[in-house]
Amino acid sequence: MWHEERLFINGELRDADGGATFDNINPATEEVIGVSADASQQDFDDAITAARSAFDLGDWSTDVSLRVRCLEQLHDALQDHVEELSALTVAEVGATQMACSSIQVVEPLKIIPFYIDVAQNYEWRTDLGISETLGGECQRWVEKEPVGVLAAITPWNVPNQINLAKIIPALAAGCSVVLKPAPDTPWTGLALGKLIAEHTDFPPGVINIVTASDPAAGSILTTDDRVDMISFTGSTETGKKVMEAASGNITKVFLELGGKSALIVLDDVEDFSMVAATAAFGMATVCGQGCALSTRLLLPHSRYEEAVEAIANMMGAVPPGDPSDAGTMMGPLISARQRDRVERYVQSAIDEGAKVVCGGKRPEGFNRGFFYEPTLITDVDNSMTVAQEEIFGPVLVAIPFDDDDDAIRIANDSIYGLSGAVFSGDDQRAISVAKRVRTGTMSINGGVWYGADVPFGGYKQSGIGREMGVAGFEEHLETKAFSKPT
Ligand code: NAD
Repeated sequence: MWHEERLFINGELRDADGGATFDNINPATEEVIGVSADASQQDFDDAITAARSAFDLGDWSTDVSLRVRCLEQLHDALQDHVEELSALTVAEVGATQMACSSIQVVEPLKIIPFYIDVAQNYEWRTDLGISETLGGECQRWVEKEPVGVLAAITPWNVPNQINLAKIIPALAAGCSVVLKPAPDTPWTGLALGKLIAEHTDFPPGVINIVTASDPAAGSILTTDDRVDMISFTGSTETGKKVMEAASGNITKVFLELGGKSALIVLDDVEDFSMVAATAAFGMATVCGQGCALSTRLLLPHSRYEEAVEAIANMMGAVPPGDPSDAGTMMGPLISARQRDRVERYVQSAIDEGAKVVCGGKRPEGFNRGFFYEPTLITDVDNSMTVAQEEIFGPVLVAIPFDDDDDAIRIANDSIYGLSGAVFSGDDQRAISVAKRVRTGTMSINGGVWYGADVPFGGYKQSGIGREMGVAGFEEHLETKAFSKPT
């Protein structure tokens, strides 16, 4: 299989210092598909040194045309390797082929032309005109500059999307980058290094990619004072550690964290087919391992049974299967560790008095792979563990509500605030409910908010800042004011 197992540091593909490697496991077969370089602390140090020099001494931070040329070359290389990347993503992530033709591989590539356009058309300098302040007449202006060296730390669930959403706006803004992918998905990250090394003119050190078996190995990136900004996507628990570590140097942090989003169905919905499809297929696409998925279903008391039946039927129609089979809609979880976690949460729901109406177990007929059935849990109160904590697996909980105000109260009764959805027979009613839900994105009657130009991020413990969109570019800029006598 086409892949890369070496680190990418200072423009070179190279083995880890000391030659260590770690196994890469296919979650559908539990087989070792190969190895990846297991970086030492020296490798991380070398990557930071390279990124620092590229930023301080090279043209990257000031030459927009160089950045545009390199990003165009990377986009061409990725497009020429969509099949190879998809095969690798199926094998490493357990992603289905259907998911690869959308969110797992094909859609994320659109991030690159979007940010090329933003970088080319951005207003880097704003004239503030002449002012007479403190007795002197001065000409003032403001310039935007790249933040500097970015440490990008990413999870395993949609690695191509998240790796690109992390590095492309930063590179387009003129930053240099050290990317540290999750240990479960090293090859999707290292593939970027291979393509950059073989098909682009990126100057050495502008982008470095370092993989390691120890999840916390990259914590050096969060404490090193040569790093100007940390861009982290992962769990809220780890996000807190990153923020704490960054406080030592007051390093800027950008955090995309967990979610427990609510899908609110108002009582005037005509039929539940669209609701059921959104709930079931959204969850199937990444086997429930999506931070922005709506995992709490808020259903009106008056139509609870009707809605549960429609959703359970639809979930039964998307059984897990071999992700390399083109017809499969739902693959496995990433690891045995993740499946254990899902099983613990489902058991906790049962222990707290909830009812499993669909799924709730490993599927029959699989003697290997980390598969789990799509699961719907009813009789759930929003205070239960299964309604408050992020499961990150194919488990939906159904919570009844009294009226619109009650639905909004329950939706907001969460430490998270990432995303959500509202369904209603009346768009305006849905929008007015959505406005009162404290999250970064909301879907109205099935609307798709995902896109390179749409800012994405969370309120509350779901994060700080916005990724994607122009807002995601501006996260990587500093603002500098100038003044000179006229
Ligand atoms: P995680 O927090 O365990 O790990 C994320 C990354 O941080 C990995 O690369 C890991 O190796 C690294 N890491 C672990 N400990 C670290 C430390 N002490 N210092 C520095 N880096 C460290 O998360 P995960 O299990 O890989 O991913 C699942 C989580 O990610 C879920 O909570 C999910 O909601 C969240 N997520 C959020 C978004 C978003 O955009 N909001 C997107 C995808 C996933």
